[in-house]
Amino acid sequence: MIDAPRPTPRAPRTRVELITIGDELLLGFTIDTNAAHLARQLASIGMHIVQRTTVGDEADQIARAVKDALDRTGAVITTGGLGPTSDDITMQSIGALFGRSMRLDEAHLAWMQERWTKRFNRPLPDANRKQAMLPDGAAKLENRHGSAPGVWIEDDRGRWVAMLPGVPREMRGMLGDTLLPLLAARATGGTVVRSLTLRTTNIAESLLADKVDSMEGGPLGVSLAYLPSIAGVDLRLTVKDLASADADAALSAAAARLRARLAEWIYGEQDTDLAAVILDLCRTRGLTVGVAESCTGGLLGARLTAISGSSDVVMGGVTAYHNDIKRDLLGVSEATLRAHGAVSEEVAREMAAGARRAVRSSIGLAITGVAGPGGGTEEKPVGTVWIAADIDGDVRTRLLRLWGDRDEIRQRSAQWTLELLRQGLGSGV
Ligand code: ATP
Repeated sequence: MIDAPRPTPRAPRTRVELITIGDELLLGFTIDTNAAHLARQLASIGMHIVQRTTVGDEADQIARAVKDALDRTGAVITTGGLGPTSDDITMQSIGALFGRSMRLDEAHLAWMQERWTKRFNRPLPDANRKQAMLPDGAAKLENRHGSAPGVWIEDDRGRWVAMLPGVPREMRGMLGDTLLPLLAARATGGTVVRSLTLRTTNIAESLLADKVDSMEGGPLGVSLAYLPSIAGVDLRLTVKDLASADADAALSAAAARLRARLAEWIYGEQDTDLAAVILDLCRTRGLTVGVAESCTGGLLGARLTAISGSSDVVMGGVTAYHNDIKRDLLGVSEATLRAHGAVSEEVAREMAAGARRAVRSSIGLAITGVAGPGGGTEEKPVGTVWIAADIDGDVRTRLLRLWGDRDEIRQRSAQWTLELLRQGLGSGV
């Protein structure tokens, strides 16, 4: 909630600038996740971030960045520097820029005092009193998740700055609870920016683009971004400047056409995890899963068990890093290991069968490979990985020739094994 004074109603400003504040952002110790979250959330009410700036905890840097942004765009959101310590100077710097002196907000001070007594059974530390000092004439944005208030300050030309805390949880809470409703209410255009993501795997970005470009039926009517990652290539469809219902209709029409064209490769929407898709497929068919992992050392098991409710599908697994363990716990034969080596189709098959036996599951998944950076040979260079999916004795295998560093190779191996199983289960989502 915003307490008095309420911001004056004005023509909406849909272009907004973002300034994230903090030395740790410049030093690279903190990744600016606030900026990404804000951009996505603002888009949902039709606002665009047109420029992003990051500055350190210096009063003149903050003031200069905010002044420049106000001169350009007139609408600014900041995050960070609202805490109780001496490096938290956002409010004073911006207050001074607006020519306002600082005043004590008695109500906020009383709220903080009560909060400390109730929560921590201690009186409010002196340092926190600073958080009740607001620029004169500024409005407070309630913070249900911490002690710093957010602040809205506006000049007589309708140019405004909204100051949010840096702590991501507090920033998200305040944005959703207070700032977005406020900005949406000020906007009269009623348009939105909306996106829908279709997740693909097992197809290269260029091939995907060829298939999309050769689609019949004219333009999709949405803008399309190809976002490759270890999980695959996401297709992000975006529409702008449409009324909410029109935006939804345009996105669903385009998504339906893409689904028809790319059915084989699309496994989900938005942030769906392939592991969750696998679990759903297994659950509906009454199948259970066991894993046998060598070079991924438990990563595949971790992917599956990270999904809540996985225990009705995942029985367990064996991290069989050493050949003795492949032999003793998974029953891979010594002869197979000797004849083909640990990184081979035959061993992957026997590991998958061994996983099924070891945990009494209907499906066994196996991964054995060279994750690097050492250990590669001419015949089996770094990135050579054999994977197998044994579904009730029906076995699929695949040789992967992966690129990237050790972490990427391990991540890709786990993702490909999930995809191998998805294919084995014959699923298009
Ligand atoms: P506090 O009341 O805790 O002091 P604050 O508003 O002053 O909050 P900061 O001190 O700037 O915020 O940052 C607090 C925490 O939030 C730090 O751990 C910081 O790494 C994290 N943080 C700050 N800005 C961002 C950002 N843009 N993205 C992600 N995390 C951030």
